[in-house]
Amino acid sequence: MSHLNTHAGSLFMVAAPSGAGKSTLVNALLAKESDLRLSISYTTRPPRPGEVDGREYHFTTVEDFLARKDNKEFLECAEVHGNYYGTSRILINQHMQAGTDMLLEIDWQGAQQVKAQFPHSVGIFILPPSIDALEQRLKKRGQDSEQVITRRLLAAGGEIAHAPEFEYVIINQEFEVALSELVAIVKATRCRFNQQAARNSALFAQFGIHANLSQT
Ligand code: GDP
Ligand code: ADP
Ligand code: 5GP
Repeated sequence: MSHLNTHAGSLFMVAAPSGAGKSTLVNALLAKESDLRLSISYTTRPPRPGEVDGREYHFTTVEDFLARKDNKEFLECAEVHGNYYGTSRILINQHMQAGTDMLLEIDWQGAQQVKAQFPHSVGIFILPPSIDALEQRLKKRGQDSEQVITRRLLAAGGEIAHAPEFEYVIINQEFEVALSELVAIVKATRCRFNQQAARNSALFAQFGIHANLSQT
């Protein structure tokens, strides 16, 4: 059963149109769930006020980003709203092989690339309750220029069109309700047969329970 311990961790992907509340929900989830790690992406976007290199993102130049891409350092990468974003392959592999659940905040293009490599990854799409609410939230966040907000609002429809590619959808109207739904998805995924078998191999062996090969 040792093969169950390679990539024993679950891989969650959270996507949303900008301003839907993705980062706020993810940060609240991470505060509740200690055994879940957020992948820190590389980006060529400039830091927002208050963002710290290595905490929200690894901020880098286009030149450095493209060199890393050529070097096959990214599990996935994409151009979103005029900037490059990418997920470190080494980090994800290290944590997942150690059995740590990983969470990626990535756009739909990246989610498609990850799904092709990890078919059992879990995709979660966050929807705002309305387009008006999305606009209000982007403005209330107050961290992007008028021009950037307009660009992101215009892109929202195109992103939402990819919602059907995700297993789960959360409508972020009441924050606490949306958060409890996100927690429920994480907890249910951890109860999948193979996740339980990997985490409790001695118990499963004691009961003579064997791997469910259809889920590996
Ligand atoms: P947000 O929309 O307010 O979260 O703004 P960000 O600038 O943080 O993210 C912009 C877009 O890039 C979002 O759609 C993210 O999901 C996406 N993104 C962030 N990190 C990554 C990544 O590592 N890979 C990919 N493919 N997309 C990413
Ligand atoms: P994203 O990461 O999807 O771009 P953020 O997490 O930055 O979005 O959220 C955008 C803004 O909306 C923030 O100011 C956040 O505090 C606010 N927000 C998030 N969820 C809700 C909610 N359920 N109701 C009202 N405002 C919210
Ligand atoms: P922001 O610039 O507002 O932080 O993020 C804008 C968008 O980029 C969001 O939709 C976010 O999910 C996406 N994004 C952030 N990091 C990555 C990444 O590593 N890969 C991909 N594909 N998208 C990302």
